[in-house]
Amino acid sequence: MLIVKKFGGSSVADKERIFHVAKRCMEDYQKGHDVVVVLSAMGKTTDQLIEMAKSINPNPSKRELDMLLATGEQCSVALMSMALATLGVPSKSLNAFQVAMHTSSAYGNARFKRIDGERIRHELDGRRMVIVTGFQGINKYDDLTTLGRGGSDTTAVALAAALHADACEIYTDVEGVYTADPRIVPTARKLKEITYDEMLELATLGAKVLHNRSVEMAKKYGVTLVVRSSLNQEEGTVVKEETDVESMLINGVAVDKNTARVAVIGVKDKPGIAFKIFHLLGKKNLNVDLILQSIGRDGTKDISFTIARDDVEEAVALLEQNKAAITAQRIEYEKSVAKVSVVGGGVQSNPGVAAKMFEAIYNVGINIRMIATSEIRITVLVDEGEEDKAARAVHEAFLEN
Ligand code: ADP
Ligand code: ASP
Ligand code: MG
Repeated sequence: MLIVKKFGGSSVADKERIFHVAKRCMEDYQKGHDVVVVLSAMGKTTDQLIEMAKSINPNPSKRELDMLLATGEQCSVALMSMALATLGVPSKSLNAFQVAMHTSSAYGNARFKRIDGERIRHELDGRRMVIVTGFQGINKYDDLTTLGRGGSDTTAVALAAALHADACEIYTDVEGVYTADPRIVPTARKLKEITYDEMLELATLGAKVLHNRSVEMAKKYGVTLVVRSSLNQEEGTVVKEETDVESMLINGVAVDKNTARVAVIGVKDKPGIAFKIFHLLGKKNLNVDLILQSIGRDGTKDISFTIARDDVEEAVALLEQNKAAITAQRIEYEKSVAKVSVVGGGVQSNPGVAAKMFEAIYNVGINIRMIATSEIRITVLVDEGEEDKAARAVHEAFLEN
């Protein structure tokens, strides 16, 4: 059997945890399995590297930032291989270059294009465990790229698909996928199973337990995922195409603090302005979520939208540069907002879902700033600091009784 096992940053945060993971992987190796281990950077390393970069240059080049961030995962894999050697297990650590994990050239947000399996197979054939750097790739310029925060999950799934692995296990610091982040909503329940589609929606709306692209890729290549704890032997959650459990009205609640609100004030109330604004942003790969347009008054209107907090400065600078073309009087933004969403197949067919969610939020005295809905989700924007309370109230309304 070929098993891909991925361990997140907190699971390899220090020497003890590295040895703990090494022993866990050793068990599978000793059963005769081929084991490929994907690791994230230790603990908060990636955050610290970003902070260090920004202290030297508040606007570092994306290429150089990726060059820097890729070092985090390289430390983890080398140390893991050393730990395994101490335990007497032969292994080899490999980075994105050595495996040859090709991505698009979008630094900081690269997507896998092609992965060579040869080098890994060669090592496995020699009965060596293979430890691969998560989160990184190489592009057509032979530069290092990174996949976006949380991207090591995607490395694991991409390798599982490329190597036709028999299992892909994502080990983290919680016991699986819950109906909400268990750190925010203590009453959240662990799910036995969840479908790719439901998981994708939760991940996209802020449930960082899995990187959303990893779920997208798992669905595309039919890779069944198991999310479980690196600290105990509990069963975890299976993520797959279809589940046996009947779909509930609402499957989960997600919170996303990585959001900001931009308001384009006083644009002309005429055709084509919204197109121009969102076309500009789209061309730069700046993803917009909630959008609100005010009613026109005296020939002008305001258009506001939410965007990932990391992208807000770039988006605002872009709109400022094109202020005349988009006929804006001014552009404002605020970072102190957060999104709370409910996700589930029942949203579309049950008109009462929106009212129930808004009532739950009203009952705890929180003001809703913006709203967006689709067939499977309702998202509200609230002031930062209120999102956890809102999530608990919404979770109680839909998922506890
Ligand atoms: P890793 O470093 O292992 O990749 P992450 O911090 O990226 O770990 O993801 C795990 C975290 O995701 C958990 O600690 C938890 O706080 C958070 N989380 C958010 N939503 C959920 C959810 N629905 N189920 C489980 N965990 C969630
Ligand atoms: N180390 C990277 C990050 O913190 C990748 C990961 O953890 O998945 O985003
Ligand atoms: Mg993660």
